[in-house]
Amino acid sequence: MTITESLVKTAAPAPRKIRRAIAELLAPLEQIAATSPNLVANHDAQFEMDGESYELPRYLFVGPRGGDTPIRVGIFAGIHGDEPEGVHALVQFIKLLEAKPELATGYYLSFYPVCNPTGFEDNTRHSRAGKDLNREFWRNTAEPEVRLLQAELISRSFQGIISLHTDDTSDGFYGFAHGATLTKSLIAPALSAAEKFLPRDVRPVIDGFPARNGIIRHAYEGILNAPPKIRPRPFEIILETPAAPPEYLKELAFVSALQTILLEYNKFIAYAPNL
Ligand SMILES: [Zn+2]
Repeated sequence: MTITESLVKTAAPAPRKIRRAIAELLAPLEQIAATSPNLVANHDAQFEMDGESYELPRYLFVGPRGGDTPIRVGIFAGIHGDEPEGVHALVQFIKLLEAKPELATGYYLSFYPVCNPTGFEDNTRHSRAGKDLNREFWRNTAEPEVRLLQAELISRSFQGIISLHTDDTSDGFYGFAHGATLTKSLIAPALSAAEKFLPRDVRPVIDGFPARNGIIRHAYEGILNAPPKIRPRPFEIILETPAAPPEYLKELAFVSALQTILLEYNKFIAYAPNL
């Protein structure tokens, strides 16, 4: 190989798809975390993929003190890398909380806005390892993102778990309700809140599952959820936005659904001692 050939070889690596920038996306949160008394950024969850090092970004929002011990809720987005709506919505939601911390009164909110960093960069559902990470939970997986998330789910023992997704086969907003019995009474008002911005998917069958008023009780195996043996089960809500509507409406629908869940669960907690 001549010097010129070898220069050409090193100067022109195999063409790579343009990657979406995670740092740019999260910059507003980093800025807030730098000065906010409420928001803490944590960059310690690292993993390797094809020799590159990656981070599973984590943020903790500590709301003003409520009456009792703080309520721990985990909020997850972007486990499918080609569903940026939830990722953007979490950035908006955290900005809203920073402006109005009282919305998070009584809560410790753990945010995982980009659960599949390589898939997000590549704009693919699967991770760069070719896995649908949302089918890998609690199955002795080797996928590092899932192992990091499982460790969070174990150590934080959330009372509530909320995941945001996008469904490009649906024209309406809908959700899955699992776990604690009260989940139903949280998701119904959340869907009503989202309905101010996006129509609800009222089909009797959504995504192959029977549905009522946009609520599905069934679940895929291996999805992000609480550790299998945990009792009592936390409330587990998956919110699905349709893909087609304008970006700002999808974000508003997610943000107002999230706000509603926090509000409703707080009411439930307030009444719980009398039940
Ligand atoms: Zn998804």
